[in-house]
Amino acid sequence: MASSLFLALLNAWSARELSVAAAFAALVLFPAALAHGTEYATLAIKVDQVGYPLDGPKVALVAAPAESFQLRRTSDNSIVFQGRLTPPVSDPDTGDLVQAADFSALRQPGIFYLQVPGVGRSFVFSVNGNVFEHTYYLAMRSFYGQRCGTAVNLGSEFSGYSHPACHRQGEFHLSSGAIGPRNNIGGWHDAGDYGRYMVNSGVSTATLLWTWEIFGPALKHIQLKIPESGNGTPDILNEARWNLGWMLKMQDGDGGVWHKQTSANFSGFISPDADMLPNEVIGTGSFPYKSTCATADLAAVAAIAARAYKPYDTKFAERALQAATRAWAWAEQYPNVTFKNPPGVSTGEYADTNCGDERVWAAAELWRTTGEAQYHSFFLDHYAELLPSLDSPPMENWNAMGPKALWTYALSTRKDADTGAVRAIRARTLAAAKVIVAHTRANPYHVSLKSSDYVWGSNGIAAEYGMELLIANVLEPNPDDTDAARDNLHYLLGRNTFSLSWVTQVGEHSFQHPHHRPSGDGKHAQPWPGLLSGGPNANRQDDVLKVLPADTPPARVYSDQQASYASNEVAINWQASLVFLLAGQLK
Ligand SMILES: [Zn+2]
Repeated sequence: MASSLFLALLNAWSARELSVAAAFAALVLFPAALAHGTEYATLAIKVDQVGYPLDGPKVALVAAPAESFQLRRTSDNSIVFQGRLTPPVSDPDTGDLVQAADFSALRQPGIFYLQVPGVGRSFVFSVNGNVFEHTYYLAMRSFYGQRCGTAVNLGSEFSGYSHPACHRQGEFHLSSGAIGPRNNIGGWHDAGDYGRYMVNSGVSTATLLWTWEIFGPALKHIQLKIPESGNGTPDILNEARWNLGWMLKMQDGDGGVWHKQTSANFSGFISPDADMLPNEVIGTGSFPYKSTCATADLAAVAAIAARAYKPYDTKFAERALQAATRAWAWAEQYPNVTFKNPPGVSTGEYADTNCGDERVWAAAELWRTTGEAQYHSFFLDHYAELLPSLDSPPMENWNAMGPKALWTYALSTRKDADTGAVRAIRARTLAAAKVIVAHTRANPYHVSLKSSDYVWGSNGIAAEYGMELLIANVLEPNPDDTDAARDNLHYLLGRNTFSLSWVTQVGEHSFQHPHHRPSGDGKHAQPWPGLLSGGPNANRQDDVLKVLPADTPPARVYSDQQASYASNEVAINWQASLVFLLAGQLK
């Protein structure tokens, strides 16, 4: 039977590509020409399920044997473009044979799908001028959904996505050097759990404030439908301020900053208001109790805040700058007090043995904000040590702040900037971007990830590659960089081996079961919207991934299951990188 042969062929190419439903549809319905809506999309055709900008490259991928493709309009199935697929290329990271369908020449907006004779049809997608604006809105608004200490309600747009105020009480843990209540209400839940961690809060909030500083004109008008909307301050700043409020409360009277505020152990999969575990401010367990990485991170973030909020709230900007300078002074006195979980505490550790890069970052941000000589000389004394951090992407993570230190210096417009330092940072960043672009072009999935990048949070690494390319483009405009940055976004939104959009409730085929307590409390058919999954992780640190076949290629070590915290958790740090990448696409 012809259709059996077809299936056998498909099996040989990409058995794991096809869902049972798609295989059934192919068996029963192939090869009749079918109207949209009566044929299941096949996972063998990979598109960005949000879409493609009208004036940019437009490429879909096919992991099944075929010759040609048609681009059809969903409203009437009319063919608007057709072309030939490129020859298949083997991708060792997924085990797929991949062909490309390039329809960049299409210059009309609309909603389309790809039809590949012998294979089937793709999920639908849009082509238009500002195609990622709604995805930016959802991704940025997801921070509101992570708010702690207040009632949250996504409103009629996402009816039932709400919870009463959570974590309204806190106390000092024995390790903090203090005793008694310390409520510290506010902030964002860090990830799938309800902890709040200074170090990860720092990098996430900084990325959002940079998003504002770099892409502000395109974001200013976008309302996030949060309680502060319409107060005269742009909503991205309103949302970031919710977390800044908590970060500032974590500073002790001496200027030092406690490392985290969490329960001793993770709660069950319950809604945040049902979590009654004592919420504790946790320190290093011995004098001076606060950690240098947390303190320097606050200094850096509060210094950015002093710049960003100044036009909207001078008093808050002054308060932030004062906190930053006090934190800086503390970190000078205690240059490397590191953190380990004290006995009996098993929540996230965010341990980092070297806080030197955090201190240089703080100096750079404080100098950029104030121009003061003490920060400038500290930066100039130390920046060269951090230059190699720009050479081997992915360049940054919550524990590697060298790139942010260097980039903020190079992005500053201060007249007293050292031209040699700026030149070195620019040259190194642009050279690294060139390497990333070359790798992205050579990769059959057009993603910047290398085989070794499929680790915990690999989707965040893809977003960070995008961020790095966009920063290179700010330093020296180059469409190669912005195209490769967008390729990483296409990967996250469905142009990947699973044909899965890794952002909840975005695209026709998005992941369903994040490791995210509010989504897993049993009340919602769909997870909370706009959240990025951690993504494939060949290190397999959870029991779900451990049982995948030993020969599974690295980019396929992923499971859309709640229990797979090592591949399917959400987290504010990679969420912030996604927001930056999306913001860079807006006009
Ligand atoms: Zn909470």
